[in-house]
Amino acid sequence: MTEEITGEQIAAGKRAYELDREHVFHSWQAQGPFTPMTVLKAEGSYVWDGEGRKLIDLSSQLVNTNIGHQHPKVIAAIQEQAGKLATIAPQHVNDARSEAARLVAKHTPGELNKIFFTNGGADAVEHAVRMARLHTGKHKVLSAYRSYHGGTHLAVNITGDPRRFASDHATDGVVHFFPAYPYRSYFNSTTPEEETQRALKHLEDTILLQGPGTIAALILESIPGTAGIYLPPPGYLEGVRELTKKHGIVYIADEVMAGFGRSGKWFAVDHAGVVPDLLTFAKGVNSGYVPLGGVAISPEIFETFRERVYPGGLTYSGHPLACAAAVATITAMEDEGMVENAKRLGEEIIGPRLAQFAAEHPSVGEVRGTGVFWAIELVKNRDTREPLAAYGGSSPQMNQVVAAAKSAGLLPFANFNRLHVVPAMNIEDDVLIEALDRLEQALAVADTFVQ
Ligand code: PMP
Repeated sequence: MTEEITGEQIAAGKRAYELDREHVFHSWQAQGPFTPMTVLKAEGSYVWDGEGRKLIDLSSQLVNTNIGHQHPKVIAAIQEQAGKLATIAPQHVNDARSEAARLVAKHTPGELNKIFFTNGGADAVEHAVRMARLHTGKHKVLSAYRSYHGGTHLAVNITGDPRRFASDHATDGVVHFFPAYPYRSYFNSTTPEEETQRALKHLEDTILLQGPGTIAALILESIPGTAGIYLPPPGYLEGVRELTKKHGIVYIADEVMAGFGRSGKWFAVDHAGVVPDLLTFAKGVNSGYVPLGGVAISPEIFETFRERVYPGGLTYSGHPLACAAAVATITAMEDEGMVENAKRLGEEIIGPRLAQFAAEHPSVGEVRGTGVFWAIELVKNRDTREPLAAYGGSSPQMNQVVAAAKSAGLLPFANFNRLHVVPAMNIEDDVLIEALDRLEQALAVADTFVQ
């Protein structure tokens, strides 16, 4: 127990755990064997578990607490809004939503200045696709095999992550293509430039063989997150933009995870100077303090719905508490220079340290990332690149690596064969350095599995 947590808090946590196991049905889990971690409190880049242990949060939860936990300005804004107007139907104007829309539009690229609010990322994806279909009068959606776009019906079908298999109905005109992914190239490329060229050729072949006249949209994470934080090689996003324009396809950039500063720029498309037709966002928009997501819409697509009804909406679209949290979050990001700080942390602390991990730990196949958005790919063998767990799966070895990170005092983000380094944009330098020291202890365990 630490001095910050009382015996009563621990007892309350134990009661919460019992009730959870009795009544809560958890996402993405076999309910029986699941042993969730209790969180008694969280502050900045720390969380306290059910035993009162203080852990460094290197996960930002599901990569959403971009400004850390319990930021006082955001908590105050939510409290103030709750006292003023806690809820209102989406057709009524309210100041929190108007201001949130202005601030989102201020930072989205190009003229993506009309904002449709949703409750999160998956419904943002669903609506973006619906807008594209109505705008183009076409139906198919192209999406990358290595991707995650959400857990609802269409979003999970669009997703490329194998976890979709159980609920994939192969419906709704979804067509998957192979993305550019230099470390595990589907095209046997040996350089990033070759990967760009071959991946774009494959994409155009897919478009032509599917029929450009049947394809409404292409959806692509600007930096795929859950699928491995693999950065697009130079020219890839620019090429995707060109191909979609050439073939009359709406380009949806999914920035649910990569957006709002995580990559060291406001949006990950900004690294390539690309402006999509639609951009989906959620998570970082308000650090996840109240559920919120949305779609930023181009003037051309907006015109489709100037006189024609947009057939879709949500009771809580642009919820005042969520929007007040977004206004305070984006303002805090601006005032406290957090996007610039994310860039600096990537360049000065995370990048160099991960390069050292790659040099010294034989289990590290590749490290890659930008800003506070990094992945370490763990392999059994560097030459064969055999992953420590299959894409979409788990392994006893990975479970041991994750357990080692936790016992070293970390809340890690692990996915399949990867450890992700995805702290808050405002994590203190010394806390981040300490977190990376602790992470290295887990790498020592991963090294023992190298063959
Ligand atoms: N798109 C991307 C790129 C995501 O990372 C996620 C969530 N991990 C989603 C969509 C779905 O968002 P949500 O869980 O808020 O529905």
